[in-house]
Parts: sequence; structure tokens; C-alpha cells
Amino acid sequence: MIPVESPTTPPPLSELESVPASGDRRRHPAPAHLRFFHGPMDCGKSTLALQVDHNQQRQGRHGVLLTQGDRSAAPQISSRVGLSRAAVEVDADTDLQLLVRDRWAEGHRVDYLIVDEAQFLTAAQVDQLASLVDDWHVDVYAFGLTTDFRARLFPGTQRLLEVADDVQRVQVEVLCWCGLPGLLNARVVDGAMVRSGETVVVADTAPADPPTAAEGRSPTVRYQVLCRRHYVRGQLDPTTAGPGQLALP
Ligand SMILES: [Zn+2]
Repeated sequence: MIPVESPTTPPPLSELESVPASGDRRRHPAPAHLRFFHGPMDCGKSTLALQVDHNQQRQGRHGVLLTQGDRSAAPQISSRVGLSRAAVEVDADTDLQLLVRDRWAEGHRVDYLIVDEAQFLTAAQVDQLASLVDDWHVDVYAFGLTTDFRARLFPGTQRLLEVADDVQRVQVEVLCWCGLPGLLNARVVDGAMVRSGETVVVADTAPADPPTAAEGRSPTVRYQVLCRRHYVRGQLDPTTAGPGQLALP
């Protein structure tokens, strides 16, 4: 005999959206998540990071924002659309688990972390984030560049792709000069694209260092987002001849 299905009433939306206080969460641990958003430079990652932070705050949650490579005296996550918020500067030696537990010891709530410039994390730091998610039910939202100027994954990005619960490629704002979606970050030194050299720690929001006036001019380094075809050809704009092409006189 087939039982007659009784209509089930879904829980009210408010119940689904409400976030229990941290004490309740430890008794009934809601699964926390490690989420990773990645893309090329200028794709709007920092804007998205600040939007996520804003949404979390509106739910009464408390978060800590982390960044790397912000060389200013007052580190912050800032976006090109003009938003910014104070952040904690971390480096490769920062124990992220300890950082959160120190906050708790000081009596602060930490329900979530926003990690900008996550491509610069070490693999060990990404594992610390995973442990915060699994053992302490802290939600982690990480934002970072996919590849460096050699079109290779950054170490932090690689580890996040390996262990994150959820990975999303951010592709909202940035186009190659040809109109195709921008995918790869080209390093341009004195107007020419280069494919080898150090993976210099430069925040994607940092302007290129101005040339020093005194002892000769230092090379001007900038980054440009290209589609894959024009990255491979080394073509920075419609007029530049890439490697292997003859420049017209
Ligand atoms: Zn292109």
C-alpha cells in the first residue's frame, strides 16, 4: 500500500535565514564553509569581499577582515568603487587559527573571516582556514587572483582550489582590449610583456611604483589583463606586434 503523501510545510523563511548566536552554533554546529572566489585582476574581487562582509554584518554576525601586501600604515580592503574597510594585515608567518583564537580570548566574537589577496597565503595557512571551518565553525570567504603573470596558479590559490567547499570564478568587469573576457594577468615592464621573473608581491589594488628620480629611472612595471589568445601572442593592444611577429617599419 502506498502511503498518501501529506503536504509538507516548509519552515518559514525567517527561520532559514536567521543565524544562531555563536553559543548555539557550538551546541548545534551549523556547517560552516570555506568559500573561494577567484579571478584576474580588476575583476571586482575586493568589491565582492566588502559586499559579503556587509551582508554578514546585517545578519548580526561578527567578522574579521584579513589582507596581505597592503603597505599602508592602516591596512584596509578597498575597492575601485570607493568602498573600504579596516583590515588586519597578515604575512606568511601569521598563524590564522591563533589569530582567531586570540580574538576569542579577548572576548570578541568571530563568526566569519574575509580573506582578501588570498593568493598570497601559504598552503599551511589555507589548511588553518579549513580547520577553523571544520573544528570551530567559522565561515571563511577567501578572495584572490587565479594566476600570476606566468599564467601559473599562485600557491594560496592552488591550495584553496584543492580544499575549498565551494569555488567560484569571478568574471564581472574585466575585458581584454579585444572585448573577450580577460583571463590572464600580463606583467608589462617598460611597455613590453615579460613571462619570467619573481612572483613579486604586489597587491592588485596597488598602483605601479613611480620611477625614482635620483639614480636613473627604475623600470616601470604594470599589469594588464588579457584574454588567453592575446596573452599567448603577447599582444597588449591592436598595434603591438607580439613575439615572433615582424614589427612593421
Ligand atoms: Zn584579447
